Amino acid sequence: MNIDLHCHSNISDGKLPPNQVVETAFENGAKLLALTDHDHIGGLSMARQTAQQIGLSFIHGVEISVSWRGRTIHIVGLNFTPSDELEKSLKINRQGRFLRLEKIAARLEKKLSVKHIVQGALDLANSPDSVSRTHIAQYLVNQGVVENLSQAFKKWLGDGKIGDIKHQWITLEEAVLAIKNAGGIAVIAHPARYKISATAMRSLVEEFMSYGGGAIEVSSSVHSLNERLNLALLANRYGLYASAGSDFHGNGEFGRMAGLSPDLPVTCKPVWELF
Ligand code: AMP
Ligand code: MN
Ligand code: MN
Ligand code: MN
Repeated sequence: MNIDLHCHSNISDGKLPPNQVVETAFENGAKLLALTDHDHIGGLSMARQTAQQIGLSFIHGVEISVSWRGRTIHIVGLNFTPSDELEKSLKINRQGRFLRLEKIAARLEKKLSVKHIVQGALDLANSPDSVSRTHIAQYLVNQGVVENLSQAFKKWLGDGKIGDIKHQWITLEEAVLAIKNAGGIAVIAHPARYKISATAMRSLVEEFMSYGGGAIEVSSSVHSLNERLNLALLANRYGLYASAGSDFHGNGEFGRMAGLSPDLPVTCKPVWELF
């Protein structure tokens, strides 16, 4: 499907600058694109300009990290007008990133022979406040500790590993309201990636909707066909719109194809009907 409402540039943990993300999506045949950097809207104006120049429909996006019942959930915001309230919330998340890097680095350096993780990750990031686990993973790859990003997460940085430290992001309520008040629609990103029970998933959806959340990402390149079908059922059961995205990062691993996402099951109400 030629619609991509979830992708990353080097403003957060993607590899390509915003203009090249847009160009790559266009070359892949995209008809509608949103750039959704983690906790950051700094790439949107460059992306919008490039999209205008090449004639690609573009909407504003962001992917916000939130803490919900002790775990991290990602909320995508789409089609908002950047606001002070939104920027303020994003900034709170970004300010926590450097401190988290120092904590993760200290833990990893105790276990691994590799040094200078803080500086190594910072060198790969656009700024200290957008440094992410992806940059740490890339540094570990560059140092020869692991073969690829996915191995870095599997061994060191993923769920339950020693580099997975508890971190306090903003709340689900704050993220959804900031998106909504900026005129956008809030979307639960890649719901199948959270290892939570069906009951917890329903609680998440219900709480999300109580704040005004309106969609879930049914189609994501990190979901299997079966997961997409189950999420379509969940969306329809709650009357939620369905979104779609590649989760492209430009690193050849995560979210391979910019501008394209797996088809939405036909029963879904596509979120782009709203745009
Ligand atoms: P952070 O926001 O700093 O916690 O970093 C989370 C990012 O790590 C996600 O947005 C993904 O880009 C990346 N990530 C998570 N799990 C994996 C994985 N298994 N393989 C590659 N990248 C991953
Ligand atoms: Mn990412
Ligand atoms: Mn995510
Ligand atoms: Mn993402």
